[in-house]
Amino acid sequence: MNVSTILKEKGQNVITADSSLSLLDVAKILSEKGIGSIVIIDTGKKVAGILSERDIVRSLAKAGSDALTQPVSLYMTQKVVTCNCADTIDTLMSKMTSGRFRHMPVVENDELVGIVSIGDVVKQRIAQAEMETAAMRDYIATG
Ligand code: AMP
Repeated sequence: MNVSTILKEKGQNVITADSSLSLLDVAKILSEKGIGSIVIIDTGKKVAGILSERDIVRSLAKAGSDALTQPVSLYMTQKVVTCNCADTIDTLMSKMTSGRFRHMPVVENDELVGIVSIGDVVKQRIAQAEMETAAMRDYIATG
């Protein structure tokens, strides 16, 4: 099971924001879309950073309400860990666990082609475990 299995099911739509938007504008997008993290894009489809709810909390703790009118580029994480369609679910789980983040943009040829969250990974792992259990039951019943 790999990233392309997840993208086939959930689609390739990714909500993005320009790095020049203010932190408040981006917070509004997160709230309106009901998402916890947004990929920040520079030119074309190139990933410039990622901003999650956690970054907004940190920004407010650091700069107070002034942070809200400042560009999101000041507060986003710039070193984004990405994956590609061929990566396995196990690889993603271990990168998310060791990096302590819950979202990974999917990049192919330097372009953003999707996003995978920890929720998508867990859902896939449960589906896989259920399939294995059903196969074992079949094997035992027919053996
Ligand atoms: P999250 O778990 O996605 O809410 O993110 C927790 C922290 O990790 C925040 O500071 C994010 O900016 C950062 N982060 C989220 N996703 C990634 C990623 N794929 N690569 C690097 N940092 C990330």
